[in-house]
Amino acid sequence: MRIYGSEMEYDYRSDLIMTRSGFRCTCALCEAEGSDSPALRQRRWELKAEAELFLAANPGGTDIRLQKPTNGQFEEADRLARAIKQTYDVAKYKCLLRTVS
Ligand SMILES: [Zn+2]
Repeated sequence: MRIYGSEMEYDYRSDLIMTRSGFRCTCALCEAEGSDSPALRQRRWELKAEAELFLAANPGGTDIRLQKPTNGQFEEADRLARAIKQTYDVAKYKCLLRTVS
């Protein structure tokens, strides 16, 4: 179970920290996500859920070492990745975003 980290949604994470510790976290991640609109955070959450469904339905994803991608897999993975990335303001998240190698 992931407790702290960017995988946990902001609202849940901030509520958990408040409940357990009695304070509002002001780390860089919480400040950045907290300044995003609830609608944007919701959109990001929906896209991440969509990406998780895509990955579950496509074991091995688009890794050609594991399987030969079928028509549309690369395009769908790319569309989801771009859509999620667009929910992050580049300047605001500059120091927080991790790159996947
Ligand atoms: Zn925090």
